[in-house]
Amino acid sequence: MSDRQHHIMVVGAHCGDAEVMAGGIVAKYTRNGHKASIVHLTAGEKGHRTLPPEEYAEQKRREAQAAAEVLGADVYFLPYKDAELPVNDEVIYQLADLIRQVKPTIILTHWKESIHKDHTNTSLIAEDARFYAALPAIKRELPAHGAWGFFYCENWEDPYGYEPDIYVDISEVFDVYVEAMQQYELFRGGVSSFRYIDYYKALAVMRGCLANCQYAQTLMRPRGANVQKGPAIPGYPL
Ligand SMILES: [Zn+2]
Repeated sequence: MSDRQHHIMVVGAHCGDAEVMAGGIVAKYTRNGHKASIVHLTAGEKGHRTLPPEEYAEQKRREAQAAAEVLGADVYFLPYKDAELPVNDEVIYQLADLIRQVKPTIILTHWKESIHKDHTNTSLIAEDARFYAALPAIKRELPAHGAWGFFYCENWEDPYGYEPDIYVDISEVFDVYVEAMQQYELFRGGVSSFRYIDYYKALAVMRGCLANCQYAQTLMRPRGANVQKGPAIPGYPL
């Protein structure tokens, strides 16, 4: 482990999103002595063919607990409904308060150009919540906390304009990543016809090819975070 302990918070729209888009990265960090927290803004409870949403929500939360355990992460749930996640001050302050409580150093979330409204809203909520959490002038029960790392993750439902800036080699924890996904009936093929586990395995292989390793997972920086200002070209001092 490096001298500094990191704490990754992954904010996902539906139980399962955080794990598919960042499970490998989370497992790699927790296995190297760092901390991680997974936050699900909704359970993603409306997609089941036979179970009513209330029952499926309970199942999804149990699956999320099991997946977080596999990844070595803590898990938190916000009480919003699948497909009805709003972007408003209530949810933004709830997440900001959680950021002040949990004190992550890095926040990962959805890229906003998505086919799913909840994913877009989660991206917007996470961005604002991180900003509110960091502002001392915003008085809440807990003092301000700045999570200075902020990145978007790769998710098949959020593809438009997603361009990876960072490739993380997850080869050593690939099996853990797959095991975490397998905790969900959704990903085992029982709920949706989308081949989740095949897709995310293949994506990790493809990203691994590009990163010259076996398996990789990627992140994208917010616009502007790639801008560097100084007396010379970064990495090429005068
Ligand atoms: Zn989702």
